[in-house]
Amino acid sequence: MLSKVQIAELEKQQYRMVGDHSAVKVCGWTKNMLTGKGGCYKYKFYGIRSHQCMQMTSSMHCANRCTFCWRGEKAPVQKKWNGVVDSPDEIIELSKKEHTKLLLGYGGNDKTNSMMYKQSKEVRHVALSLTGEPIAYPKINELLEKFHQQKISTFLVTNAQYPEQIEKIKNITQFYISVDAPNKVKLKEIDRPLFPDFYERLLKSLDLMKQATYRTCIRLTLIKGQNDLDMAGYKQLIERGSPDFIEVKGYMHVGASRKYLERENMPMHSEVDDFTKELIESLDDYEIVSEHTASRVLCLIHKRMNKQQYIDFPKFFEIVNNDGIAKTLDYSSDKMTPNC
Ligand code: SF4
Repeated sequence: MLSKVQIAELEKQQYRMVGDHSAVKVCGWTKNMLTGKGGCYKYKFYGIRSHQCMQMTSSMHCANRCTFCWRGEKAPVQKKWNGVVDSPDEIIELSKKEHTKLLLGYGGNDKTNSMMYKQSKEVRHVALSLTGEPIAYPKINELLEKFHQQKISTFLVTNAQYPEQIEKIKNITQFYISVDAPNKVKLKEIDRPLFPDFYERLLKSLDLMKQATYRTCIRLTLIKGQNDLDMAGYKQLIERGSPDFIEVKGYMHVGASRKYLERENMPMHSEVDDFTKELIESLDDYEIVSEHTASRVLCLIHKRMNKQQYIDFPKFFEIVNNDGIAKTLDYSSDKMTPNC
């Protein structure tokens, strides 16, 4: 799928290609956790252990060219899948192998916590969000099932351009839709989609989110002066998807996004906080449950969750690995329950 030049460029940036269309890269927070600098916001919000997380994608291609994407276009943008389809087993085993290899250097680092380093060799969570659009992988549900069989929890982020792929998902630990703008005009400007019916695709994806049994989250990436407006538009989209969580996160002026945006477009944590408080005033059913200043992000929880923000991992695997359907409240808890 990628040319030799593209692969070489990715390797320089510490990505590792896996098979024909997948890739891994160690997240900065995984490294931070290993060297005693703390975990990511998903550790604080939901209990994901950053040092046992593998960041990856099962599809390098994407149907959007979002201006705020700091990863840029690592592979050609395209609407439809073409080329070979690697097997889920192959993707998982090779990804874990490459991820462990990328962490090898931490074994000899004085600042590394040796117990955590040992644990890091056992992947317990996968963040399907690295680059491209992981949900586009034709066997996405089989891939999720295989991860669950290995007691690896799954988070997947989509830009909502493939509702037909969402329909394939039976179980997932937490499912994300990135809502990048409050209305159709702004979404076209910010996401620069390839699909002419991009907005209808988003709406259909939100409808599917509302019907989902598993934990759901809408992610808003706030770009100062660009999408921090039209509260009524956000309210409408959020209520349409009715997610269990909303993450409001500040845009970071790094990587490829610097081509389209300025430093001034990056809000301070206090500005993300102000926006979130204004948003909450227009939403009846959400409250702030946590925040992570270093990542400039706040987490809102739906009142039906009764503040049960954490994932009960043993419960989740017990359900999904016995052919059950994981229902949000059946595997949510108000206490952190590590997956180890
Ligand atoms: S959950 Fe996300 S932010 Fe946290 S360690 Fe994994 S990839 Fe990084």
